[in-house]
Amino acid sequence: MKLENVQVEVSTHCQLSCLMCPKRIFRREWISGHMDMEIFRRIPFEKFRYAHLQGWGEPLLNPNIIEMVEFAKAKGCRVGITTNGLLLDEFAEDLVKAGIDLVAVSIASADEKTHRKIRGCKLSDLLENIRMLSNIRGKPKITLVTMMLKDTINDLPKFVEMAKDVGADEVIANNLDYIPSPDLTGLEVFSEKENREVLNVIRKAEELAKRLGISFFAKPIKLEEALVCAEDPISSCLITVDGHVSPCVYAHLPTRSDEIIRVFRGKVVRVRKRYFGSLVEEDFEKVWKCKEYKDFRARFERRKRAIDEFLVLELPELPDVCKTCYKAYSV
Ligand code: SF4
Repeated sequence: MKLENVQVEVSTHCQLSCLMCPKRIFRREWISGHMDMEIFRRIPFEKFRYAHLQGWGEPLLNPNIIEMVEFAKAKGCRVGITTNGLLLDEFAEDLVKAGIDLVAVSIASADEKTHRKIRGCKLSDLLENIRMLSNIRGKPKITLVTMMLKDTINDLPKFVEMAKDVGADEVIANNLDYIPSPDLTGLEVFSEKENREVLNVIRKAEELAKRLGISFFAKPIKLEEALVCAEDPISSCLITVDGHVSPCVYAHLPTRSDEIIRVFRGKVVRVRKRYFGSLVEEDFEKVWKCKEYKDFRARFERRKRAIDEFLVLELPELPDVCKTCYKAYSV
């Protein structure tokens, strides 16, 4: 049976220093690097349906990125990236030739000034790059990804219009689901109780997208413990830039510390990074099947089963690394 998604952190370098990015917050201990081809080739892409070549960093900065897309495609895997869009003009043709299936571009807001304030780069240049990609014959699916923040949420309908205008197929509105510093608390739009005003804006954007004929997906804005988070740790995983096999990007950061700092429900918490082995030392199969990783996944499997079997009172606890991760609470 095939596994679902492998997320591959092909680079932890980035030209930007966005307001909410852990790379800006933890810049003194950030380890910037590119995944080398030797580690990349050890990933068994044939076991997965989809490979997303991005972690905490900009994938188009990896000098082997085109070869990486070709390699994963040749193993029968669908391939996508999320990029900041700055180098798309340079790479668009080659990405299409390599057969990439999805290009997602992160954009902070449809408003030039707000975008520049959050991302520190010019929005109009990115839009030109996306337009160019959308005009290439055989283009991949193009998704514009944004983050719903208190400062940007009201522009969401305008964001949908902008996406249509540049030839995108889809808009995904994410949450600030990892808050790396107390300074950023309060920017998120999710809460214990759904905010009606935010919900109305999301509905407006959704209706507009329907009228314009593009897909739209916004993450939930109410905190509710999920049985299994949307990262699907049961059948998906992350390969970090240095080859570690981890459940997801929320359980691992490319920093010198063994811990991750998170702000969760107003409190600063420290959790140990979670990974189960390294492709530098062992093959994937061995790591995936090791007892510790199996137990980690089994916890989520039992949570899923408990509901099907009406055993809610016997719901196993979340693993430690997940207890203070907002993804475990549906947002
Ligand atoms: S809850 Fe968070 S840390 Fe745990 S697997 Fe899901 S995304 Fe990763």
